[in-house]
Amino acid sequence: MPHGSAIRGTRVGSGPVRPTERCDPAPRRPVTYWCAKGHSIEVLLAAEVAPPATWDCPRCGQPGGLDQLNPPGPARAEPYKSHLAYVKERRSDADGEALLAEALAALRRRRGEF
Ligand SMILES: [Zn+2]
Repeated sequence: MPHGSAIRGTRVGSGPVRPTERCDPAPRRPVTYWCAKGHSIEVLLAAEVAPPATWDCPRCGQPGGLDQLNPPGPARAEPYKSHLAYVKERRSDADGEALLAEALAALRRRRGEF
């Protein structure tokens, strides 16, 4: 059993960590938004700020509203697009097939199939 410890100053209670005045955050309150898909989005907003009418859902990209029973519809100038949709915008189907064939060929090479 070795004596002493290589790690010093980690004794419980050796350095009380308390938030300083400077780091004290402004008062915040949680505001919950609801998107059309039923996701709840909890946002911490500064207490003195009026919450915006909508908040984009980080899970599906749809706008969320404050009324759970009446969420805003998906009507937006820029509809949510999946990553694949953006890729398809940049690449044609032919490009996609070429890329797929390339990827499959590389995969087969790695597996030792020719
Ligand atoms: Zn959502």
